[in-house]
Amino acid sequence: MAKKTKHIAIYGKGGIGKSTTTSNISAALAEAGYRVIQIGCDPKSDSTNTLRGGNYLPTVLDSLRESNHVKLEDISVVGFGGVLCIEAGGPVPGVGCAGRGINAAVSLLQELNVFEKYEADYVLYDVLGDVVCGGFAVPIRDGITDRAYVVSSSDFMAIYAANNLFKAINKYAPSGGAKLGGVIANGLTATYSESLVNDFASRTGTKVVGYVPRSLVVSQSELYGKTVIEANPESEHADIYRNLAKFIANDEDLNVPNPLNVTELRDWARNWGDKIFKLESGEVSGAEAI
Ligand code: ADP
Ligand code: MG
Repeated sequence: MAKKTKHIAIYGKGGIGKSTTTSNISAALAEAGYRVIQIGCDPKSDSTNTLRGGNYLPTVLDSLRESNHVKLEDISVVGFGGVLCIEAGGPVPGVGCAGRGINAAVSLLQELNVFEKYEADYVLYDVLGDVVCGGFAVPIRDGITDRAYVVSSSDFMAIYAANNLFKAINKYAPSGGAKLGGVIANGLTATYSESLVNDFASRTGTKVVGYVPRSLVVSQSELYGKTVIEANPESEHADIYRNLAKFIANDEDLNVPNPLNVTELRDWARNWGDKIFKLESGEVSGAEAI
């Protein structure tokens, strides 16, 4: 019997740490013995860099532009721990929909029967989610994945992007779209950051599945062209990613979130602005303000 492959989408605002987090989750799952495919669904096409030592990998869209007979070998590289790396790619700059690559990549992989042939346990989709327009909603809309996570810091724009993803999930889940697993909190530095992200998750009816602190270990590993799992396997940070990977791999607590509307989000943010001001000015101390 064919094994059941879990298809997981990881969304988030540009630059928030999606690719870093996704690649470390892939590496941790591979290290634990699972067969993993990571598909970069960001026109930046750098999702899998640290899994393949920065080696060149043509994107699916570029390959399709050049040939009608694209084979798996043309658009994939086997990276750390056997993770199969694929980059969907983007449109020619200035032309077309940035989400087109996702559709093209998934259709091609389905046509080539890659998920079954590779006997994948997990397929991770690293998706740019600043704007969850039609193209970027593809992985959660058309039954490609059944679960999504969002990477967020405590910055308002990251929360804003997360809330937009929740809106898209809310819209598509009733007709077979993906459900939400939760929030991956990345790069929290300020004293209030964790409370703010926790509060957003609880207000929108979801959960935080892991906290990844900002760390030089991540920056250093990236400079080596590697994940933390590969470059610094003994580090505390590698264990943080391993635990996150394990949690997500077994998480079946999926739901349809309740996104905040524009006014609610503004009021919520303003309220946090007040709290932070009081906290930083010393008017109140930690727990009291939060
Ligand atoms: P995205 O894929 O969301 O655009 P990246 O994963 O490429 O973002 O991350 C953007 C930058 O932030 C990278 O240089 C990455 O090394 C850095 N970064 C991400 N998460 C962390 C972290 N927890 N600690 C330190 N640096 C991080
Ligand atoms: Mg990225």
